Amino acid sequence: MKDGFGRTVEYLRVSVTDKCNLRCVYCMPLEGLPWMKRSEILDYEEIEQIVRTMAGMGLRRVRITGGEPLVRRDLPDLVAMLAKVPGIDDLSLSTNAVLLEEHADALRTAGVRRINVSLDSLREDRVDDIARRPGSFPRIMAGLDAAERVGFEPIKLNVVLMRGVNDDEIEAFAEITRRRPWHVRFIEVMPTGGNLGISADQFFSCQAALRRLGRLADLSPVEGPKGNGPADYYRFPGAPGTVGVITPMSHNYCDRCNRMRLTADGHLRPCLFGHLQTNLRDPLREGRSIVPLIEETLRVKPERHHLVQGSAVGSGGLVALSQTGG
Ligand code: SAM
Ligand code: SF4
Repeated sequence: MKDGFGRTVEYLRVSVTDKCNLRCVYCMPLEGLPWMKRSEILDYEEIEQIVRTMAGMGLRRVRITGGEPLVRRDLPDLVAMLAKVPGIDDLSLSTNAVLLEEHADALRTAGVRRINVSLDSLREDRVDDIARRPGSFPRIMAGLDAAERVGFEPIKLNVVLMRGVNDDEIEAFAEITRRRPWHVRFIEVMPTGGNLGISADQFFSCQAALRRLGRLADLSPVEGPKGNGPADYYRFPGAPGTVGVITPMSHNYCDRCNRMRLTADGHLRPCLFGHLQTNLRDPLREGRSIVPLIEETLRVKPERHHLVQGSAVGSGGLVALSQTGG
């Protein structure tokens, strides 16, 4: 699949729910976010049909995300269905890991190979403050242990940087990569309607994080683990893992964008931000072909996003990233 700027799109992020068992300060408001109706949400057969159609057009890789994907019942069933779609050779999952311990085995057996876990602090009290669902930390740690035990590879940790909140843990997170074959990725906070205060006042750039880490030891640019998208990767000498940075605000990676997103209610989004989205659900339910709609969405995929720190202008009316799958 080629978009209007010649970029090859072979990767789809599939959101299976807009709900979540956490309320990360930068992602979701504590309350008041309207939930999608049950009837609006795609069932697993519909998701499989869309993925199968896109695989016929060139889709190769699928990441399951949310909201929190593990709050949706029987997720391994969906994984098993997608694993059988001809052409899909890479299935991965993004999760906060709270429910991972109980599902890791089934997910691995069903076909998930790679996993990304969000973890914004190594301190329990801070995770409580950031995720706003006290008691999650031990479960996340158990989830990470389970991820290692069942053999997800690679394991990536996603850390959203916030000044005065977790920026004093940059070194501690990076140190993990010297001990374990994990990939720690620092992410710059992106503005959505629900987090403008954080985006304006607590923004911490990945460049600043890299400068700090450079004082610890040499960091060499490296290729990065399989499935690398927007991240740039670095490695400490002899380290089994890597440090990655995802820099939506201080640096633009849109020129190598290879993805589209499917929302839980069946809209295909060519860009994380902006108003553009195509309803695939209703035509699918009416038995119409969705191929022309996918082609059109590809054709109008924007050249780049237009995010502005501390402003909702470029976020296209998005209140929370949980609504589109991040
Ligand atoms: N619940 C799962 C999780 O947390 O990994 C999957 C969905 S979450 C929306 C996907 C990723 O988006 C997470 O790594 C999260 O930290 C990140 N994220 C959410 N809101 C963000 C924001 N405003 N700026 C940057 N990253 C954000
Ligand atoms: Fe939930 Fe993930 Fe958003 Fe946190 S970042 S509130 S875990 S969807």
